[in-house]
Amino acid sequence: MGSKALQKYLTENLEDLRSKGLYNEIDTIKGSNGPVIEINGKRLINLSSNNYLGLATNPRLIEAGIKATEKYGVGAGAVRTINGTLDIHDELEAKLAKFKHSEAVIVFQSGFNCNMGAISAVMTKKDAILSDALNHASIIDGCRLSGAKIIRFEHSDMEDLRAKAKEAKESGLYEKIMVITDGVFSMDGDIALMPEIVKIAEEFDLITYVDDAHASGVLGGDGSGSATHHNLIGKIDFQIGTLSKAIGVVGGYVAGSKDLIDWLKVRARPFLFSTSITPAAAAACIEAINILTESDELVKKVWENGNYLKKGLKDLGFDIGHSETPITPCIIGDADKAQEFSRELRKEGVYAKSIVFPTVPLGTARVRNMPTAAHTKEMLDQALAAYATVGRRLGIIK
Ligand SMILES: *Cc1c(COP(=O)(O)O)cnc(C)c1O
Repeated sequence: MGSKALQKYLTENLEDLRSKGLYNEIDTIKGSNGPVIEINGKRLINLSSNNYLGLATNPRLIEAGIKATEKYGVGAGAVRTINGTLDIHDELEAKLAKFKHSEAVIVFQSGFNCNMGAISAVMTKKDAILSDALNHASIIDGCRLSGAKIIRFEHSDMEDLRAKAKEAKESGLYEKIMVITDGVFSMDGDIALMPEIVKIAEEFDLITYVDDAHASGVLGGDGSGSATHHNLIGKIDFQIGTLSKAIGVVGGYVAGSKDLIDWLKVRARPFLFSTSITPAAAAACIEAINILTESDELVKKVWENGNYLKKGLKDLGFDIGHSETPITPCIIGDADKAQEFSRELRKEGVYAKSIVFPTVPLGTARVRNMPTAAHTKEMLDQALAAYATVGRRLGIIK
């Protein structure tokens, strides 16, 4: 009955995690992942999704998905490079290129796949990558896959980046050097210092790579991301976006020069060896970009809600870190206490996940809140009331 060595490995490691209370039990939502969710029969204000603009349940996207399914079927039928490129995939890429003010775009099945494919398509073991210490797991894995030398710089520390870029450049050891960063850091909600990064890149001829997973649909006024926000259009080589968070569907993309995208279309392995996003997903994403292009209402709303929640938590006396975006951490410190806080919030009707070491540094365990454009003021007030109750009960606020 299967490999004994495998069973031993699984039993030992699962027991280890469970005995330390580190085994993550997955909560299943009944129905959609909207501003209010139902888990185990309980209605909860949802502050844990990345569905920033509420687009996952937007009627226009749903309608577009249904129509595309009727027209094209449920699957694309092949990888993009064989014959899985449908006209709506091309249409989505053209629309995204325009939205991102870039020459071209390539769509992948996920943001994770963008980082798996794009980094190793251009970086090799003859190269070096300067990587922010708080970069997302998919960036770290993508860098490793490339075989390039990975040089970590302290989070958003421009002196450290500059020193390490200078050292790498002057060593003469590398053919190419890349600097890679999240556009918005998901655990603290802070924004990468892109103008300084681009300046350092220009000085040392670095390739610039920004992963806008949490900036897509959030930064730039119209949701077009970091380049627009920082006034750096045309100055960033790789702009990664996700279609799975604020855009509300699934998928990811790389925006860049026509030559870069032409190259990724023949070298990025997830594009070449994994089937393209479904017709319904492509059509829904197109509709999402239409909505963002027509009006900034949703982007304004997620910021307004983020600011409202932040002010409310701060007024209650909580430490909300140094977030600059709607992502609102509530720093508790101790890991057990943060986990208890999250459980107690749930009893009070609020779903907000605790995040502990090693995802965040020791002593900075937190409950992370992701308000969206779909939350009403009443929902946020309910959440704040729960925070007040639990905060006092656990002695975190007065
Ligand atoms: C979430 C995230 C991804 C993965 O995006 P998916 O489309 O969900 O695969 C990649 N990079 C960063 C920085 C992220 O936060």
